[in-house]
Amino acid sequence: MTNYIPQNLVIIMDNKFPGKDISIDDLKSKIPLCAKKNKNHHSIVKVKNIEFGGKNIPILAGPNTVENSQMINKIGKFLKSIKICGIRGGAFKPLTFPYRSKKYYETKLDGLKWLKETKNKYGLISTTEIMDIKYLEDICNSTDIIQIGSRNMQNYPLLTECAKTQMPIMLKRHYGSSLRDWLGAAEYILAEGNKNVILCERGVSVPHTHRSSSRFLMDLQVIPAVKEICHLPIISDPSHATFWAPWVESMTLASIAAGADGLLIEIHPDPKNAAVDPLQPLNFNQFKKLVNKSKKIANSINRKIV
Ligand code: PEP
Ligand code: MN
Repeated sequence: MTNYIPQNLVIIMDNKFPGKDISIDDLKSKIPLCAKKNKNHHSIVKVKNIEFGGKNIPILAGPNTVENSQMINKIGKFLKSIKICGIRGGAFKPLTFPYRSKKYYETKLDGLKWLKETKNKYGLISTTEIMDIKYLEDICNSTDIIQIGSRNMQNYPLLTECAKTQMPIMLKRHYGSSLRDWLGAAEYILAEGNKNVILCERGVSVPHTHRSSSRFLMDLQVIPAVKEICHLPIISDPSHATFWAPWVESMTLASIAAGADGLLIEIHPDPKNAAVDPLQPLNFNQFKKLVNKSKKIANSINRKIV
């Protein structure tokens, strides 16, 4: 298999310490399916009638958690009204601590059902996270894109089983992983013959994140880094990266400018009463403003928000 080796990278790729950065040997033998075949090799992942990796920049917006049928219906109706193509929402949540409460909960199979009803009703595409392989069939029957959350990025048996379904898979980067590790995980999916992989940057853990409430730092630089060597589309999740609604708009605009092929944005009809992570979702008005500004940035680089 011959893969594209960017000539200007040969020197730095040759002179590296093994393990962290991607080497020429990695492109040839460890991640040959992720690696570009030529300079202009960019794959498009098609989800129904929506393309990731082409001229369009699809937005998948929605709540952290599908809390109940009314709220997800309200969000679906709103997205349809402003011509945004995709909805997100977790029914199974990787909550950092094990305790659940009235305020802090997962809706599981009910949540999947409500998400499916909503996306069908408004003709949207959807994504929802898988955590446990036993729900794979339910998730495949309820959504258009399987979301692998950052915490499961290296859960290889989960990746392999999801890959076998041939469904589109959004692979979030673990907040502590290198690009090399991330593409290694993507290769597991491609190795099953599933070409429908969408990468998602969602912020990394670093010693300094500007304030205690911002847990992660958005790695905008990973977008051009991916595009240099890998043909897969890469989308950006400024909501999880900033963990702070007032910063989401600027990081969204910056992501588009950096070349993101799509966006994952948390929105909620009433953010302060969100079941999980109330600091990060935008309300409907804030999201509308973000979409309008995003259209201008996208337009200036000959792309289109959908
Ligand atoms: C999410 O998208 O709701 C989520 C839990 O994201 P991450 O896996 O990036 O933390
Ligand atoms: Mn979340």
